[in-house]
Amino acid sequence: MPSDSGRGPARGRAVVIGGSLTGMLAAAALSSTTAQVTVVERYALPAGPAPRQGLPQARHAHLLWSGGARAVEQLLPGATERLLAAGARRIAVPTDLVTLTSGGWLTRFPERQFFLACSRDLLDWVVRDLATARPAVRVLPGSSVLRLRGTAAGITGVVIRGADGERVLDADLVVDASGRASATPRWLDALGLPGVRTRIVDSGLGYATRVFRAPPGTEDFPVVNIQADPRRPVPGRNGTLLPIEGGRWLVTLSGTRGGRPTADPDSFTAFARGLRHPVIGDLVAMAEPLGEVTLAHSTVNQRRLYERMPAWPEGLVVLGDALATYNPLYGHGMSVAAQHALVLRRATGRQPVTSPGLARRVQVAAARTTTAAWSMAAGQDLRFPGAQGEPPGPGDAVMSRYVDRLMLTATRRTAVGRALFDVISLSAPQSALMRPDVVAAALAPVRFTPLTDPPFTPQERAALRAVWPPPVPDGPAPDAPA
Ligand SMILES: Cc1cc2nc3c(=O)[nH]c(=O)nc-3n(C[C@H](O)[C@H](O)[C@H](O)COP(=O)(O)OP(=O)(O)OC[C@H]3O[C@@H](n4cnc5c(N)ncnc54)[C@H](O)[C@@H]3O)c2cc1C
Repeated sequence: MPSDSGRGPARGRAVVIGGSLTGMLAAAALSSTTAQVTVVERYALPAGPAPRQGLPQARHAHLLWSGGARAVEQLLPGATERLLAAGARRIAVPTDLVTLTSGGWLTRFPERQFFLACSRDLLDWVVRDLATARPAVRVLPGSSVLRLRGTAAGITGVVIRGADGERVLDADLVVDASGRASATPRWLDALGLPGVRTRIVDSGLGYATRVFRAPPGTEDFPVVNIQADPRRPVPGRNGTLLPIEGGRWLVTLSGTRGGRPTADPDSFTAFARGLRHPVIGDLVAMAEPLGEVTLAHSTVNQRRLYERMPAWPEGLVVLGDALATYNPLYGHGMSVAAQHALVLRRATGRQPVTSPGLARRVQVAAARTTTAAWSMAAGQDLRFPGAQGEPPGPGDAVMSRYVDRLMLTATRRTAVGRALFDVISLSAPQSALMRPDVVAAALAPVRFTPLTDPPFTPQERAALRAVWPPPVPDGPAPDAPA
């Protein structure tokens, strides 16, 4: 089979464990250089944008930052257009955001970055449909990988169990994309390899999500987001109203240990009204609920340091949530997964999957790609009461103070806001926050007046007034940055 990598014919066989986002993107990454890519997925995969077993988090707000969306587009050209055609919203950041950050209401500057807002079911469907259309890719739904085959020196395949019993799939490369419950630590142990060091930071965050019908006339409504302030010694409580396809608002509320929302539909609006500003509660109070409240508690930051293991077998790579998970409030898991898949594509574009040392190189590069999202989420989470994890050191305290300063000045200063969103969207390295112009803008004396109300535009207020009986407060119009 010819390869479109320009490196000659596609060679070798790969097995991908897990057919979720990381699995499908990894399959796409391998599809042009590897002769056969088999994705093994434990559960059935729907033929359309529908809920499925094995992905409980899909009911909660899932946004794909520009750093991830660009990676998906590189792996699967046309994905963004298909998503938008199916009703996904492209949210210009910070133009289409009404956000209360820990530093105050953010001015709606011209677009610097963006994210895609849609249901997770739609996103996964588009990715899955495009990835499985590649001739080299085949999928075995309803099949579980039971164990790896090979030795501590090299993996040669997997043993799977499907409807027709157990069988072996030989592979030159096995990609573990099986998510946060990955069995790789156990499998490596069985091969006689030393245990992997794992870092955990747990703020005890709980999510509660409910979908509403968006009131007519609010089709272009912005994303509304209220964030906790980690400087306050109380549980952090947050809320996001995400407009998604089908004229719906997906509203996710969350709280750290001691401040979690419950599944009680009657307390959903009250919880939202109790955030640092009541706007999300006021908005959902007038919208029609389309289902029950769904909870999630799988929000721990967990990082497996495979790249530091003294020995690593040939032919095994661990990507996506199987490698690291992050507090979902930051919306980074899928974007990092897409960047992991790009790392895999670059490596296999240079060398075939059969090359010695390839797996270790990919593992080291994937770990590097993980670091920014990890430090943003784990660093902030440690600040909330009752958070569990290695206590922050003196350097972390200085960094936290700088982050607070960035959050404050980003509300009105474009230089800071741009750098912050470049980093948060995983479009620039964290070092962008240390550029001299950014540091100077962040540390200059604050003379601006903070916004006191949600910065809705006059058009957005008019849309709300048309459907919302109580008078919509006349907050400040979005004005020029300081
Ligand atoms: C509440 C919540 C909200 C989130 N919000 C966001 C967000 O806004 N933005 C964002 O970018 N990320 C978000 N995330 C993170 C995002 O959901 C994950 O990063 C993403 O799903 C990672 O995909 P994955 O493919 O690595 O793992 P998963 O999606 O967990 O998929 C793993 C797959 O492997 C299969 N599998 C497992 N074991 C086996 C086996 N032995 N054999 C065969 N198949 C197997 C499973 O059935 C499953 O399909 C959120 C997460 C949570 C929990």
